[in-house]
Amino acid sequence: MDFTFSPEQMALQGRARVFTEQYLFPFEQEVQDTNALSAESSKTIRSAVLEAGFNAVNHLREDGGQEYSLVNQCLVFEEFGKATNMLGLQPWMPAYCLRFGTMEQREQYLRPAIRGEIREAFLVTEPQSGSDAGGILTNAVKDGDHYVVNGLKCFASGSEKADYMLLHCNVDGDPKKATLFLLDKGMDGFEIVKTPRALYNGPSEHPWVQLTDLRVHESKILGGIGQGFELTKDWFVEQRANIAARCVGVAVRCAEIAAAYTEEREAFGRKIQDFQGIEWKLADMAVEIMAAKALLYRCASEYDNGLDRKAAHARMSAVKLFCTEMAWRICDQALQIQGGHGYMMDNPVARHYTSVRAERIVEGTSEIQKVIIGGQIKKRGMGVYTGLMTQPNMPGGNT
Ligand SMILES: Cc1cc2nc3c(=O)[nH]c(=O)nc-3n(C[C@H](O)[C@H](O)[C@H](O)COP(=O)(O)OP(=O)(O)OC[C@H]3O[C@@H](n4cnc5c(N)ncnc54)[C@H](O)[C@@H]3O)c2cc1C
Repeated sequence: MDFTFSPEQMALQGRARVFTEQYLFPFEQEVQDTNALSAESSKTIRSAVLEAGFNAVNHLREDGGQEYSLVNQCLVFEEFGKATNMLGLQPWMPAYCLRFGTMEQREQYLRPAIRGEIREAFLVTEPQSGSDAGGILTNAVKDGDHYVVNGLKCFASGSEKADYMLLHCNVDGDPKKATLFLLDKGMDGFEIVKTPRALYNGPSEHPWVQLTDLRVHESKILGGIGQGFELTKDWFVEQRANIAARCVGVAVRCAEIAAAYTEEREAFGRKIQDFQGIEWKLADMAVEIMAAKALLYRCASEYDNGLDRKAAHARMSAVKLFCTEMAWRICDQALQIQGGHGYMMDNPVARHYTSVRAERIVEGTSEIQKVIIGGQIKKRGMGVYTGLMTQPNMPGGNT
């Protein structure tokens, strides 16, 4: 068993760290102040992403992506995650499922998205149905060679400036026919009806979108009718790993800021690092980050080594659950260590505190991860989590 990163992997993470410090940190204050990135700032970051080769790290080389292993994706996302105000999402990763599109769809959407020429949004959640995606009501009905779509979507991040969107909806009102459609910007029947302010300031909004008699050609179906859930399954593994990696980055940055503060700050005539109450907080942080990293990179490595899809899905839920909850606890403690200074928005810890909160909700809430984990334990036994995966095709292989 060897968990040593290769010199190439260390160099890759080093490059991601330099990129983050040079091209993401400098824009944090702008986003904090304006809740947006100016066109000029976006252009600067986009050029730097392309220059560094951090675009579409998840996509195949034949489509123009970087085709990183999941471990390598986590190495770079850990660094990007250190940037506040959701700037860690600036190195774009078009939806994994676009690789299953037709050649025309890949030419029109995936490849330009990989090059950073067009941006996407994903429309799944509805006001009455989020975790329970089978309960969506948005519906498409066939009319000649088109489908007519009606429904209301909410929290469609980035749809206010997206060039294309992946729409998850039912066909013929049948949840068994859940289907993904590709929508283009500016289509008749597409309207942003509400843009609620989120807890944090980030470069994207999270609008509500009304779809009214929107006509979409049948050639815009991704995969096939009824393929909606199947197409997003592998994506969940990748997305949850990347969220977990970003959360490790959040925790590392916050813990380092807090530790540095304790070296300088004095109270009652002593450095606060000399109070046992503070020392123990730092010790807890260090151990939690260590555990999170070990879990993340071990499971990502199992995935890269061909772990069975269902087992990978099951284990990545545990990774997402642990890393997002861990980052939240560490942010809270890092803020507490800095007292009132930690609460002010010019402090990266305060800014992370507001945005990392979302990571426990998106891509499956913490409760939903526990539902998945509980279900897997019932179906396959505790070994899925407590055993070591010695054989890729043995979910729960417990040796
Ligand atoms: C910042 C942000 C960005 C987002 N971006 C997007 C986006 O781009 N596209 C998109 O489609 N959606 C997006 N979402 C929506 C997100 O995916 C949903 O908020 C999430 O899936 C939860 O759904 P919900 O909000 O409807 O909560 P609900 O599903 O209504 O859940 C409410 C509560 O009940 C709990 N719960 C639900 N079911 C169970 C259960 N079986 N057992 C135990 N507890 C349960 C949940 O954990 C939660 O605590 C975004 C959300 C946020 C906050």
